[in-house]
Amino acid sequence: MTEETIFSKIIRREIPADIVYEDESVVAFKDIHPKAPQHILIIPRKIIPTANEATENDEKMLGHLITIAAQIAKQNGFADDGYRLMINCNKHGGQEVYHLHLHLLGGKPIGPMVCG
Ligand code: AMP
Repeated sequence: MTEETIFSKIIRREIPADIVYEDESVVAFKDIHPKAPQHILIIPRKIIPTANEATENDEKMLGHLITIAAQIAKQNGFADDGYRLMINCNKHGGQEVYHLHLHLLGGKPIGPMVCG
């Protein structure tokens, strides 16, 4: 359940990505198929496949994902207009990459909460 995905290769810089932030516990980079003018993924360095595998020990890092998302939005000038933070889980959540990540979407009105 802790198999590596393409995101581990990005963390190790084995494949290219537009990394906008990193620290000891998280890495943030631009989504390769942006769904909004600003679409950034904030991921833990630790492999947690889905929200279902997150534990109490992960709570500090999971909160950090949100504060870093807000920091990135502020630094890029779209915090005041607003943005959406989203974590997809498993098939019904539309998850494609099984390394938990927080989507930061902004730069225009993001639209309805649930699509399609
Ligand atoms: P999710 O559906 O929540 O698992 O989202 C996975 C996201 O990862 C999608 O929005 C993809 O466009 C994005 N993605 C997949 N591969 C890459 C990559 N190599 N670099 C940046 N983003 C990626």
